[in-house]
Amino acid sequence: MSNICIFRGENQFYSHGVFDICSMFPAYYNVMIDLHTHTLFSDGVLLPSELVQRAYHAGYKAIALTDHMDMSNVDFIVPRLVKAAAELSGYSPLTIIPGAEITHVPPDLIGKLVADARDLGAGIVVVHGETIAEPVIPGTNRAGIESGADILSHPGLISIEDAALAAEKGVALEITARKGHSLSNGHVAKVAMMTGASMVINTDSHGPEDLISRTRAAIILRAAGVPEESIETIFSNSRKLVERVGRS
Ligand SMILES: [Zn+2]
Ligand SMILES: [Zn+2]
Repeated sequence: MSNICIFRGENQFYSHGVFDICSMFPAYYNVMIDLHTHTLFSDGVLLPSELVQRAYHAGYKAIALTDHMDMSNVDFIVPRLVKAAAELSGYSPLTIIPGAEITHVPPDLIGKLVADARDLGAGIVVVHGETIAEPVIPGTNRAGIESGADILSHPGLISIEDAALAAEKGVALEITARKGHSLSNGHVAKVAMMTGASMVINTDSHGPEDLISRTRAAIILRAAGVPEESIETIFSNSRKLVERVGRS
């Protein structure tokens, strides 16, 4: 008799009798972790409940719900995502993390909003970086890095100096699967590797069709110029963020 491991989608393993390969892989290995997604609390199309279920079906192990926020809605959305994550966690094998994406906020106000989101219970805080796809206020990348956020999302216009600061502060630079934002993945990966900044890969999902497999995530990293030996490190950066939230 064989038992299927928790790994799903393209990462299934089977255990057979004495040789139990499943036990060799702790949770979060060989599975998709996505720390940047949107629900209908901002401009996503799914309820948190459905996004979580869709992510489970797509083979995910962990997901952060990081809706767009500014000073008008941070206190409205974060507590609701905290509630959804807490209640759904009892009924889903996924690790569900309530979060925030601080978006299009003047750089001087970003630090306070990151702190507010954390105080309200956000486990993962993303700052919406200076992408080439939207007119983000210059200085947002620097402010996001200095704000103590976990992830600077799609920072397509990032300078070497700011990437070096991200390395120093331990802020992860995002490689993205999202159309438009992803056009600058190669630049982000290059400056991250030059400066030692850590990277994560996320989908920035707004709907169910945006969720991807870990295999697809690895392809996107390769296409960004990330060498094969660094791909596992990038996946492990996401794993460590999930583990850090679990400890806090
Ligand atoms: Zn959006
Ligand atoms: Zn986003």
